[in-house]
Amino acid sequence: MIEHKVTIDTVNLASVERTLKRLARAFAMRGKAFSWSLGEPALTQFKNPRGRVYYVQQALLTVVCEEFENAWTVLAKIQPVDINQAAHGQPVIFSPNPTIEDTLTPPHKFTDHCDHCTSGKRGRQTVYTVTDGSAVKQVGTACLLEYTGITPEMAESWLKLKGNSRIDWANNTGERNKRQHPNMSLTNMAVALALYANTHGKYRSNIGRWIFNSWAHAVPTGNGWGEVGYWHPETKKLVVIEKIHGIEGYGTFFGQPDELPQVSEAVWNTAQDIIKYMTDLPGVNNFEHNLRTIAKAHVVTNKTAGYAGGALAGWLKRKPKAAPKPMPTVTSEWLGKVGERMTVLPCKVTFVRRIETMYGISTLTKFIDLKGNQLVWFRSGDRNDLIKGQIIGLTATVKKHDSYKDTKQTTVTRGKIDTKPEWGEGWEQD
Ligand SMILES: [Zn+2]
Repeated sequence: MIEHKVTIDTVNLASVERTLKRLARAFAMRGKAFSWSLGEPALTQFKNPRGRVYYVQQALLTVVCEEFENAWTVLAKIQPVDINQAAHGQPVIFSPNPTIEDTLTPPHKFTDHCDHCTSGKRGRQTVYTVTDGSAVKQVGTACLLEYTGITPEMAESWLKLKGNSRIDWANNTGERNKRQHPNMSLTNMAVALALYANTHGKYRSNIGRWIFNSWAHAVPTGNGWGEVGYWHPETKKLVVIEKIHGIEGYGTFFGQPDELPQVSEAVWNTAQDIIKYMTDLPGVNNFEHNLRTIAKAHVVTNKTAGYAGGALAGWLKRKPKAAPKPMPTVTSEWLGKVGERMTVLPCKVTFVRRIETMYGISTLTKFIDLKGNQLVWFRSGDRNDLIKGQIIGLTATVKKHDSYKDTKQTTVTRGKIDTKPEWGEGWEQD
């Protein structure tokens, strides 16, 4: 017997139970034991992006089942990001099995290949990675049952267990819109997310699918407010899904970005920033990987809408808290004399980045002085002694006077950091 544990939101218990029943049937058909139990519900504390604490009732779901003889397990489902284009070679959407503890690395590209029948490029839209504990294989949907004894439906059920754990969208509007509008430009999704953020200042669970399935059109109602929803096929009236702020003109979320409703400058900037956030993600986990992949393809489908909506949660979390105080001057001038040592005090860290070179890792740190004059310091090694925003005293030798993007900068070397300098006049330490 093997035991799987998954934490679920109890509000979604009904849909999780439906999935569990499917799994139970699949096991029963093979004469295998399958049972589950739900732990005592408890409130779990979360913090919203504004730092406010809220609680979600969750419970620990324990599934106990017999292993199949061959003991194949589905590790993940892999799909191309855009269903309307040839799958092979596309960036992938990666859905790991939530009952697997291992951290899996998503492949960079979709490979239309099945290790079972060893055939490639059959127009597959889904492949599964499976393991028997020793080898990891990729199998197409058609061969999954024969190769592993696991039906595609069962694999889906496993994968859905976790996906079901946050569902509260209005599914009464879904099916029709989904078929009418299989695609949404990422720009359009980002604008919709930005409108929601502009109105509510927060994330709502499963926002991506909610928008994709019910935000077809926007109608301005005055004073920057508007209504979003979809046209009722019979009454030809807008079924209002949400009232939002930041709408200045009619438009549709499905169509070219230039057909989007007119939105305020702030909303548009937020949308651009959400896209930039997605694009710049390092991709260190599945969440980041999937968002970055969607950003690359710049398209949101029914399949990826849920992931895309998650961008709002991520973006809100990392949103800078307050705009930095304006600098006394924006013109950067060179400092010191080349070859001579100088002390810059106070000196503010504006940028830290570790750069991999053929010689190893270097750390690039940029600074400004009180007048906005820019300094750059390259050091070998992975240095984390300075952080962005930190104010220090820096004594260093001027290596050269050069420019970056038309801004004069002073490159220094052999720097000495004073983390507790006597300030005199200057910035206040954050
Ligand atoms: Zn095959």
